[in-house]
Amino acid sequence: MSARLLNGKALALEVREELAFRSAQLTAAGERPPGLAVVLIGEDAASTIYVRHKLDACRQAGFHSVAHRLPAETTEQALLALVAELNADHSVDGILVQLPLPDQINETAVIEAIHPDKDVDGFHPYNVGRLAQRLPTMRPCTPAGIMTLLNEAKIPLRGHNAVVVGASNIVGRPMALELLLAGATITVCHRFTRDLERHVRAAEILVVAVGMPGLIRGEWIMPGAVVVDVGINRRPDGTIVGDVEFEEARKRASWISPVPGGVGPMTVAILLRNTLEARLARGH
Ligand code: NAP
Repeated sequence: MSARLLNGKALALEVREELAFRSAQLTAAGERPPGLAVVLIGEDAASTIYVRHKLDACRQAGFHSVAHRLPAETTEQALLALVAELNADHSVDGILVQLPLPDQINETAVIEAIHPDKDVDGFHPYNVGRLAQRLPTMRPCTPAGIMTLLNEAKIPLRGHNAVVVGASNIVGRPMALELLLAGATITVCHRFTRDLERHVRAAEILVVAVGMPGLIRGEWIMPGAVVVDVGINRRPDGTIVGDVEFEEARKRASWISPVPGGVGPMTVAILLRNTLEARLARGH
């Protein structure tokens, strides 16, 4: 068997075209387009690329976007002042502060300073709490993108055994909450998990978000399982790989997401979808 590909690149394009259409409808009606403010502190190479992709996607969808690029030595106070300004700015529907932040800035303080209605990353405790209580509002982008991919492929989730490897606030935890909301039975693995292989072998749906190439051996995949690889790892030769041994896993899985071209593009598409929803929720 060779797994079918969960083609995030193609689906993300479709989602973005639909968002561009809806943004054009707003402007054709004389209304303001959705607006996203992106804040980048310092010059981390990966963050700079991610921010560029997000701004390009906004432009292509006809959204209003503003980039605030601040030096690496920016203080927490200065960043909080900028967030307060953006919270009050009527042309801004969504605020994204690119993580990670430099050491002198407390990430939690910044995430909690963003108004939950403008928290298009879905990281604010209010939005995560709403998801935990089965009342999702702004959904964290990467897990929501994965759910969109799984739904598009009509993969049944209710009652199925789902294993999430990785338990970070931005991917693993909200991913487990999304799968739980969809009726799957969840196991979450993390660095203290004993016998990762045993859990992975029992997974009908497997989502891996750790950041360790080859962590998940292809031979561990249950025949027919659905495998979603969130990991992004740059090898010394410059190529990008995920956390799962792709070629071996592909022989056993029924569906698998490639890296690149799987989850990554969906994250950006959902960021834009959240921004449009934030714009529509504000009404004017
Ligand atoms: P992170 O904050 O570093 O979290 C990694 C998680 O993996 C932690 O929960 C950690 O456990 C767990 N872990 C570490 N070693 C492990 C092991 N040996 N076995 C099982 N679990 C282990 O990373 P992240 O932000 O969630 O990102 C994870 C990966 O996804 C990275 O490669 C990142 O680049 C990628 N990513 C991709 C996208 C996308 O759009 N495609 C978006 C975000 C992130 P503890 O909680 O116990 O420390």
